[in-house]
Amino acid sequence: MKTLSVIIPIYNEEGNIPRLYERLNGVVQQLGVDTEFVFINDGSRDRSIELIRGLASRDRNVRFIDFSRNFGHQIAVTAGLDHCTGKAAVIIDADLQDPPELILDLFAKWQEGYEVVYAKRRARQGEGFLKKLTARYFYRTLKKITSINIPVDTGDFRIIDRKIIEVLKQMPEQQKFLRGQISWIGFRQTYVEYDRDARHSGETGYTYKKMIRFALDGITSFSNLPLKFATLAGFFVSGVAFLLILYALYARFVTRDYVPGWTSLMLAVLFIGGVQLISLGVIGEYISRLSANIRNRPLYIVRDSNTESAGGETQ
Ligand code: UDP
Ligand code: MG
Repeated sequence: MKTLSVIIPIYNEEGNIPRLYERLNGVVQQLGVDTEFVFINDGSRDRSIELIRGLASRDRNVRFIDFSRNFGHQIAVTAGLDHCTGKAAVIIDADLQDPPELILDLFAKWQEGYEVVYAKRRARQGEGFLKKLTARYFYRTLKKITSINIPVDTGDFRIIDRKIIEVLKQMPEQQKFLRGQISWIGFRQTYVEYDRDARHSGETGYTYKKMIRFALDGITSFSNLPLKFATLAGFFVSGVAFLLILYALYARFVTRDYVPGWTSLMLAVLFIGGVQLISLGVIGEYISRLSANIRNRPLYIVRDSNTESAGGETQ
C-alpha cells in the first residue's frame, strides 16, 4: 500500500509523457512519500503506450492500464481509482495544463485533514474563446440547477482521500461525472487556486461532441429540472388556457362578438394542450424517480459511528 497514487488518463499524449514524468518525479522527490503512478491508456492512436511501457520497465512505481479502445476521460480516471492503492490519490491531466508542482499544496492540505482538495482555476491560458465561454456558463448553470454544491471553474485536478475512493467504487453509474459525484459524497472539502497553463504538446482530446456529452451527463446525473420542465410548463399553459377559455366563452355568449367555430376550436386546443403537458410531466416525475433508483448510489455515507456495523470502515 502506497501513501500517494497519481492517476493519469492518457489519450494521444506522446509529446507530453516524458516531460510529465520528469516533473512528477521532481514533485515526488520533494514530497518524500511512497508514490505510485497509474497511467491509463485510453485507446491512444499514437506511441503513448510504448512510452508508458518503457517507463514501467525502468520504474517499479509505474503502473499502467491499457484499454481496448477509447472509453473516455471519466472512465479512464475511474479505472485508475479502482486499481490504485494509495491512502490518497491525485487526478491530473497528462498535458501539463495542470502544473504537477501544485500537488505539493494539495498534499499539504490533505495532510491537514481534508478529504478532498480540488484545484480551482484562476485563469486559463491557451484555450479558445468558445471553450472558455462555454465552460464558464456550463459550470454556473449546473450549480444553479443541481441540489449539490459542485464548485465552479474546477476540473478533475484534485487530491482525494481513500474514503472517497471507496465510496466512488460503490457508485457504479454508467454516466460518470466524477466532480459531481465527489461533491455529492461530502466530507471535508476545500480548494487551492492556480493558473491553468496551455497544453504542452498535442491537441485536446475533448472534441465538442465529447464536451456536449459530458455536459449532458453532468446535468442528467445531478438535476431533474429538464424532466420537471413539462410539469412546470403544463401548469403554466393550463393557467393561461383557463383564462383564455373564460374569455372565449365571454366573447361567445356575452359580447356575441365572435367568428363561428372559433370558440369550440379554442376550447379544444387550449384544453388538450394543458392536459398533454401535465401528462408528460407526470411521466417525467416517474422517470426522474426511476433514474434516481437506477443510479444505485448509496443512500447515505457515514463518517464515523460507534455502532457495531455502521462505522466499521472509518478509523
Ligand atoms: N483524455 C482521455 N480520454 C479521452 C480524452 C482525453 O483519457 O477520450 C485525457 C487526456 O489525455 C488528458 C485528459 O484526459 O490527460 C484531459 O484531456 P484534454 O487535455 O484533451 O482536455 P481539455 O484540457 O482540452 O479539456
Ligand atoms: Mg487539456
